[in-house]
Amino acid sequence: MQTMDSFNFADRKAFVRVDFNVPLDENFSITDDTRIRAAVPTLKKILKDGGCAVIGSHLGRPKGFADRFSLRHILPRVSELLGVDVLFAGDCVGEEAGTMAAALRPGEVLLLENLRFHAEEEGKPRLEAGAGEEETNRAKKALKESQKEFTAKLASYADVYVNDAFGTAHRAHASTALIAEFFDTEHRLFGYLLQNEIVAVEKVMNETERPFTAIMGGSKVSSKIEIIKNLLDRVDNLILAGGMTYTFAKAFGGKIGGSIVEDDKLDLARELVALAAEKGVNLVLASDAKIADSFSNDAATGFASVNEIPDGWEGLDIGPESEKAFAEVIKKSRTILWNGPVGVFEFDNFDRGSRAVSDAIVDATGKGAFSLVGGGDSVACVNKFGQAGEVSYVSTGGGALLEMIEGKVLPGIKAIRGY
Ligand code: AMP
Repeated sequence: MQTMDSFNFADRKAFVRVDFNVPLDENFSITDDTRIRAAVPTLKKILKDGGCAVIGSHLGRPKGFADRFSLRHILPRVSELLGVDVLFAGDCVGEEAGTMAAALRPGEVLLLENLRFHAEEEGKPRLEAGAGEEETNRAKKALKESQKEFTAKLASYADVYVNDAFGTAHRAHASTALIAEFFDTEHRLFGYLLQNEIVAVEKVMNETERPFTAIMGGSKVSSKIEIIKNLLDRVDNLILAGGMTYTFAKAFGGKIGGSIVEDDKLDLARELVALAAEKGVNLVLASDAKIADSFSNDAATGFASVNEIPDGWEGLDIGPESEKAFAEVIKKSRTILWNGPVGVFEFDNFDRGSRAVSDAIVDATGKGAFSLVGGGDSVACVNKFGQAGEVSYVSTGGGALLEMIEGKVLPGIKAIRGY
C-alpha cells in the first residue's frame, strides 16, 4: 500500500478529502482553524512533489445550497496557510468544477464548494417531513443512482485519491469511502493526519504495552456502553468517572442527592461491574465527590462519599480520595486512553479532578507511557490545562475515534486499505 511518503505526486492530480468543518462566527470568521491546519502537511507534500490538489470538504449540515455553509468563507485562510492563491469552484460538481480541475497545473490548488450541498454526498434523501414510505423508497432508489454519477464526477478530477478527513472516516459517504473504488490500490492512500490517527489508536488498542488503563468520563454511561464493553476485553484498569459515577453509586444502594443519574441504566451498571470482575479488570470508580448546592461555578461546595450525598446537593467533580486513587493507577500505566472529563471541568471550581487526571497522564507519559487523549471534551481539558503537548497523541476525531475504540471498522479506512 502506498503512503504519503512513498507516493510521488509529481505531475499528479490528487483529490484530497479533508475535514474543513470549522466553527464560524456570525461574520463568517473562523473561530478555530485547527482542522484546516491539520490538513496542511498533506497538501504541502503534494505541492512540494510537483503535484496539484482538488480539495473536497463539508461544512456544517446544510440541506441544500446555503451561503452560510459556503466554503468560500474559509478560502482566504486556506490560501494563507498553504501559501498559494487557492482557486474556488462554486459547485463541487457541474461544468465549472470539471473545467477548473482539468486546467489545474502543478503547484495549484482548487477548493470545491461544500460537498454536502448535494444530497448525493451523504446518500440520504432530503424529503419533506411526513413523506410516505413509498415516496421515501423511490427517493432512496433514485438517489442511489445519482450518487454513483456524483461520485464518478468527483473521481474524474484526479488520478490519485487521498483521504485526510478523520472526522468523517466513520461515514460511508461519496467522498469519504465510495470514491475509493474509482482508484486502484496503488492510487488511494491516507493523508498524514488520518495515518497518524490510525497509528495512534492501533498502538493503544492492538499493540498495547501493559498495564493499559482507560479513563472514561463524561456525563452519561448510556453513550459509552459499547466502548466500555469493548475496553473490558483489553484493559487492565478501567477508571469510570464523571456523571456516570452516580448511576453506579445508585445501582449499589448509594444516596446520590441531586446528582446526574440514568435511572434506566442501573441494571446495566450492575452488569458492567460483574463483567469487569469476570474479565479480571480492575474497575476503579470514584469514592468521593466535590459536591455543590446547584449546577453553577459559584455554588456552595463541600466533599462527600459518592454514596452519601445529601438531598439538595450534587456531585460535580471527584474528591481528593478519588484523585489520589486515580493518579496512582495512571502513574503506573504504560498505555493510557482518556476519553471524557471526570468532572464539570468547564467550571473552574470543578476542574481539579480532571486536572489531576491530566497531570498523572503527563507524569506517566514523561516516564515512557503512550497516552492517547481523544473525544471533544477531554481534548478541551488538556488544552485548558496547557498540557496538549505533553501527552503522546491528541486525537482530532469525535465520533470516528469513539467508533474505532468500540472496535468498529470505519468505512473511510476500509475503503483505502481493505480492512
Ligand atoms: P460527554 O459528552 O458525555 O463526554 O460529557 C461531557 C460532559 O460531561 C462535560 O461537559 C462535563 O461537564 C460533563 N460532566 C462531567 N462530570 C459531570 C458531573 N459529575 N455532573 C454533570 N456533568 C458532568
